[in-house]
Amino acid sequence: MSPLDFSSYRKIVVLTGAGVSVASGLPPYRGAGGLWGDLDPQAVATKKSLLETPEKVWELCKKQRTQVLQSEPNPAHQALAALEASLLPSQSFLLITQNVDGLHVRAGSKKVVALHGEICRTRCSQDACSLQPFEDTQLYDEVPHCSVCSSPLRPDIVLFDEFIPVDAEWATKRALRDCDLFLAIGTSGTISPASNFVRSADYAGARTIYINLAAMDPPNPYFHESYLGKAEELLPQLFSF
Ligand SMILES: [Zn+2]
Repeated sequence: MSPLDFSSYRKIVVLTGAGVSVASGLPPYRGAGGLWGDLDPQAVATKKSLLETPEKVWELCKKQRTQVLQSEPNPAHQALAALEASLLPSQSFLLITQNVDGLHVRAGSKKVVALHGEICRTRCSQDACSLQPFEDTQLYDEVPHCSVCSSPLRPDIVLFDEFIPVDAEWATKRALRDCDLFLAIGTSGTISPASNFVRSADYAGARTIYINLAAMDPPNPYFHESYLGKAEELLPQLFSF
């Protein structure tokens, strides 16, 4: 497999999903099954649950924070950070991730949009409150409260029944609008968001590449090329400079 040549691209957009963090020991957030004990993320990590039983949301957050704190970036994260660092000032780069683990930033990536928020960040549950979201690795046994308005605090992640934050959505759309290279890594190529993103990128005339363990079923024609395998093995080969 020959490495990709990034030198001729001006605007590079990368989307990453759970497949990038598997080698760091982090299982996919969705459909994690019995991993969380009797906590079903899709039932617990919702706005409704946050209002009615915030202690359940924090119990799930504690389990996830514990896992993230024990994990380290793997060669897939490192290859993406090295790619960004190797680009010329005239080349723009945006890494959009569905992962809430913060491992891209820990690996050294700079321009990162966390579509679904970050598990190790906390904010007030009242959107109008002046408290700014803050880095937080505490493992709370009881629901913490806001120092400004006394409302319950919440992990700064997008819950299953919430929308993507407007700023993240806007940054993503703007980047895709005129990108000339788009890569989707470790995420399904046939469902949202990759399926929507690749359509926009293709419309903009970009070269589009799918990198994932599993082949697309059915194939998504907006992806022009695909590489199948583990992200932590493929990226260091494809991104060797
Ligand atoms: Zn508040």
